[in-house]
Amino acid sequence: MDKNAFLEKVREGAELIKMHIELGHTIRIISHRDADGITAGAILAKAIAREGAQFHLSIVKQLSEDIIEGLAQERQKIYVFSDLGSGSINLIEEHLEGATVVIADHHPPEDGEITNDSHILINPTLHGANSVRDLSGSGVAYYVAEAMNKKNRDLSYLALVGAVGDMQEVDGTFHGMNVDIIEEAKKMDLIDVRKELRLFGRETRTLAQMLAYASNPEIPGITGDIRNAIEFLRSKGFDPDMKYWQLREEEKKKLHDALVIQLIKNEAPKEDIDKLIGDVVLIKLYPEGDPRHEAREFATLLNATGRLNAGALGVAICMGDEGAFKEAQRLVDEYKKEQIDARKYLIQNWSSVMEKEHVYVFYAGKSIKDTMVGIAANMAINSQLANPEKPVIIVADSEEDDSLVKASARTTERALKKGYDLGEALREVAPILGGEGGGHAIAAGIRFPKSRIKEFAELINRALEKQIKSKNEQEASE
Ligand code: C5P
Ligand code: C5P
Ligand code: C5P
Ligand code: ZN
Repeated sequence: MDKNAFLEKVREGAELIKMHIELGHTIRIISHRDADGITAGAILAKAIAREGAQFHLSIVKQLSEDIIEGLAQERQKIYVFSDLGSGSINLIEEHLEGATVVIADHHPPEDGEITNDSHILINPTLHGANSVRDLSGSGVAYYVAEAMNKKNRDLSYLALVGAVGDMQEVDGTFHGMNVDIIEEAKKMDLIDVRKELRLFGRETRTLAQMLAYASNPEIPGITGDIRNAIEFLRSKGFDPDMKYWQLREEEKKKLHDALVIQLIKNEAPKEDIDKLIGDVVLIKLYPEGDPRHEAREFATLLNATGRLNAGALGVAICMGDEGAFKEAQRLVDEYKKEQIDARKYLIQNWSSVMEKEHVYVFYAGKSIKDTMVGIAANMAINSQLANPEKPVIIVADSEEDDSLVKASARTTERALKKGYDLGEALREVAPILGGEGGGHAIAAGIRFPKSRIKEFAELINRALEKQIKSKNEQEASE
């Protein structure tokens, strides 16, 4: 990617914010409600507070015309969007015409262009970055904060929590500008990056739980079965009640070897073996055994707050609020339990999936929460219910509006090589169904009327087919 061009945009955005700070204006921040968005919002809020300025931050599930109209009615002088906005350029241009707008985002921009001189789009995908590997929304926010004041380099670790929340290192290593942020955070002595077991629970779960609830990758013969996990650990000489962080280095190594052998013996895909051991970010500001010590556990804590519309609690945790942290810890258990239940439901009911040539569409009604469908789609792939080269879409009833469904589409790098782009496909079919959709090539979402699920399955199958055909034609003519 062209880092210099990107950083030039970053500086322009930072200058706009600083100019409004000097004028005494409140900086209005709107951010996305997952771990990436929450850390992005917290980074910007902290940077602004440090300049002695006022901010007003909202964490939202998504942008809609209603929300943008509401923001316009506030008549603020400046709006800063983080980890969202690129999908709503037309609406922003239409409703926030009279104000300064800074969009600091990493989603591939959708139709619509910035036409207003005082609006700016800071987005690494415009400079050649891959939206799901090279930089997260929190990473973009971090660069803006850093351009405002070098002091904000001490927030680099939060950008990494956001990156991990978005699974930017899903293949086991960090890429692109995420690596630059890691270098900065190491220089500041804020983090360590180690090659360790990448499963959830390094700090707070017993080894038995860590293995039994492993979802990315799954451990064949062990995931989903706590008794097998305990037996496996005992047979290798481990105490199943110990935590991973308590192991000595040579014990960790021994556990890694045993797990890799377990995967190989069960003919797990190469991708699963690759991502089992890899980059793990440890945050030195917090002690071992604290969920905030490891980026994945930290991110999960934030995701657990966002999902319950308690994003402000997540922001407070990022700001170091101990009360908020204690409150949120209780939410994680429920969140993890829902993930386990979703996996069970998928396995038991997968026979009812609508399988098309290019996609699986699985309707879960109210049995899987609409906030869990993205995780469920990844689970269908990781548990080998689905062929990894065919995209998976999980559909659930919307919690806000019973006439609507929410769906998440997920796939693998291998499927992308065939030519699929899920964000583009959902964006294409959404208006036909009277819905809204979009996202990244590998992970995207949509909302549409419940009465049209069958039609959706047909339409999305055809949209994906068209993508593959056009890729094949392109290659044939080359
Ligand atoms: O909203 P946003 O961009 O922040 O979220 C990205 C989404 O893509 C997350 O839900 C993340 O888990 C998902 N993802 C994925 N597989 C990847 C990369 C990202 O499912 N390889
Ligand atoms: O995919 P998305 O970003 O919505 O995932 C939200 C959170 O759930 C992330 O923190 C991710 O690490 C976690 N997750 C998980 N197991 C999966 C998929 C995601 O714990 N199979
Ligand atoms: O909602 P879900 O977790 O499936 O979203 C996956 C990715 O697609 C996220 O990055 C999300 O921000 C994005 N998305 C979008 N437009 C939508 C729905 C989801 O850009 N209408
Ligand atoms: Zn993001």
